[in-house]
Amino acid sequence: MSCCGSSTPFAPVVDAYGRRFTYLRVSVTDVCNLRCVYCMPEEGVAWLPKDEILSYEEIRTVVEAAAATGVYKVRITGGEPLARKQIDVLTGMLARVPGIDDLAMTTNGILLAQHARALREAGLKRVNVSLDTLNPERFARIARRGDVKDVLAGLAAAQVAGFDPVKLNMVVLGGVNDDEVEAFAALTLERAIEVRFIEYMPLQEAKGCALGSGSFGFVSNATTKERIARRFGDLEALEVGEGMRGPAEVWRLPRAAGRLGFISAMSAPFCARCDRLRLTATGEIRSCLLDGGGVDAKRILRGGARARI
Ligand code: SAM
Ligand code: SF4
Repeated sequence: MSCCGSSTPFAPVVDAYGRRFTYLRVSVTDVCNLRCVYCMPEEGVAWLPKDEILSYEEIRTVVEAAAATGVYKVRITGGEPLARKQIDVLTGMLARVPGIDDLAMTTNGILLAQHARALREAGLKRVNVSLDTLNPERFARIARRGDVKDVLAGLAAAQVAGFDPVKLNMVVLGGVNDDEVEAFAALTLERAIEVRFIEYMPLQEAKGCALGSGSFGFVSNATTKERIARRFGDLEALEVGEGMRGPAEVWRLPRAAGRLGFISAMSAPFCARCDRLRLTATGEIRSCLLDGGGVDAKRILRGGARARI
């Protein structure tokens, strides 16, 4: 199956709102080597026992079943996907699943410099690197572990390895890093990367994820875009409105080599256009992070049944 609508062995997955699912995000681990303030508490995170996490073979079985219903895009994520051993092996397994045309990964980039080439050789096509600040002290405050230099080395290694496109994801946090949006935008002047500004979603506040004692100020992407345009001049619209291909509006700075993406899940939710399913590290298939419902694929797999979606 490809994106172009040829037939699949099973009926496509279509939900009650008529949304057809063609994209699967696969969380391969809950483990992470960072503790970003908006995602995890600083201390005391208990990782799941290994046998609760899907094996690589089990993940492949779910992806094969999804591909049979017309899923053709897969994104490997986490936790931190590069924190799972031999992730290039899983990458190769998923790249070989018939029908999976587009295999991507989202990573915090800390270990990317050492894995980029092997991942590319294994069949990974695209990579998104998450980075919220270019300032080392601020990185220590936001990510609470690791070194921004390693992320920048990972980003450079991804470009050298030939990933296309390479995207840089920045979560904009009011009063924390919003004064860096111009510096992030400027990275696209010379480099053919896409810098994406992501509105902070208060999903994890209930888990006690906050910087210091308070929460973060919300910054809408309208504010971020205005701020960038004030500094660099009018942005050129590339994929906006009806022309959008995914959740991001895409613009370009005047004469820039790269692009700017704006993902506005809070100020302009894109639920009606959502085409993604999620496989959690523990084997649950979910259509939405904000909706409690899911299917326990692990139970089906370990009960010996054929996986179905
Ligand atoms: N560890 C990898 C990484 O950081 O890229 C992959 C998993 S992480 C959960 C995936 C993306 O979600 C990252 O770009 C991260 O910045 C973003 N993210 C996590 N929590 C968020 C939140 N509360 N609001 C907005 N984006 C968030
Ligand atoms: Fe780890 Fe990614 Fe969460 Fe940061 S956003 S703590 S890197 S999983």
